Amino acid sequence: MGFLENDDKYIIKTYNRTPIELVDGDGVFVTDINGKRYMDMFSGIAVNSFGHKNKKILEAVINQANKYIHLSNYFATEPAVKLAKILVENTFAKKIFYTNSGTESNEAAIKIARKYGRLKSPTKTKILSAVNSFHGRTCGSLTITGQKKYQVDFEPLLPNVFSFIFNDIDSFTEVVDGDVCAVFIEAIQGEGGIVEIDKDFIKEVKILSEKYDFLLIIDEIQSGIGRTGKFLAYENYDIVPDIVTVAKAMGGGFPLGAVLAGEKCCDVLVPGDHGTTFGPNPVACAAGYVVVEEALNEVLLAEVSDKGIYIKNKIQLISGKYPGIISEVRGLGLMLGINTGEYSSKIKEEAMDKNLLLNITAENIIRIVPALNISYEEINEFIKIFEEIIQNINK
Ligand code: PLP
Repeated sequence: MGFLENDDKYIIKTYNRTPIELVDGDGVFVTDINGKRYMDMFSGIAVNSFGHKNKKILEAVINQANKYIHLSNYFATEPAVKLAKILVENTFAKKIFYTNSGTESNEAAIKIARKYGRLKSPTKTKILSAVNSFHGRTCGSLTITGQKKYQVDFEPLLPNVFSFIFNDIDSFTEVVDGDVCAVFIEAIQGEGGIVEIDKDFIKEVKILSEKYDFLLIIDEIQSGIGRTGKFLAYENYDIVPDIVTVAKAMGGGFPLGAVLAGEKCCDVLVPGDHGTTFGPNPVACAAGYVVVEEALNEVLLAEVSDKGIYIKNKIQLISGKYPGIISEVRGLGLMLGINTGEYSSKIKEEAMDKNLLLNITAENIIRIVPALNISYEEINEFIKIFEEIIQNINK
């Protein structure tokens, strides 16, 4: 007997588990308790960007764990400072605040935004976010998540939060005014179905952020740290944000996130305003430094873009060969969505039989977010299995 039965018994059921018991991982592969090896095309939901058992990450983790695993925020730690320095030196950010997860990054950003606004006027507290967005599950970030289904049972949520339609500037101008302190937006909506932000739309929002003096906050928790072929996803667009929130990939599998804050707001929080016992964990930061250094590498970033285009082209060929199953493949770099409509669950199930792990988001989008260092050989293996599945469905 494995451990799945006891998972149901002892852990509050907030997730529907995949009925396999994974006991090992290696690169883009994971192995179950019976020795069956799967290729993982969603890498722990865009977390394991450099695969399992990555030698450099393991080495950094062991080195740091041999010194200390935790101190407290009464002390600065070398791994945290080293990681903050490389982040600031390579991005728009002037300073960062560390967290332990994506939702916490957004919670911290909400607090920065509210204080930024209130320092200017007591009524400048409005926050805007997009319909169909996803920013997390704690109460603040849940409020800015534009999906009613996640909110209803937990209302009342934060006051003074309003939504606009993603990529619709008319809808945006209806809700924006001088009382807005921040706009939260994903560069690519992840849970919303891999929907990319429109270049002109975000440029307009940037112009309005200057006119009305609000913070433009880009949530890159899923799309950041190299995933789109740029270190940060906003670099694909012609804007500079005031805040970028990151997490997921940054800790190499460890719980680690950050608020990257630009000039306008990097000194808004002062001692006593915000905190966390665990963040930044020194071991997570040591792993994070390896991840960030790798993800800043121009050669890797170019490869991420190329591999994304390669996968897109291959999927489009499959779509042409077996029409009526795949309606669209979209996204940037190695953050892709394949719309397989009503066939999505069947494709996912058949993939498991063929040793391939796929993830579905927004009901009918197969989300392809593999490790950034996936090889062409591995990509070809994925394409081969995927084509077999589509071919079977087509029969
Ligand atoms: N923001 C975005 C864009 C996300 O995709 C997610 C998680 O999927 C979050 C925030 C929340 O992150 P976490 O689950 O680490 O709290």
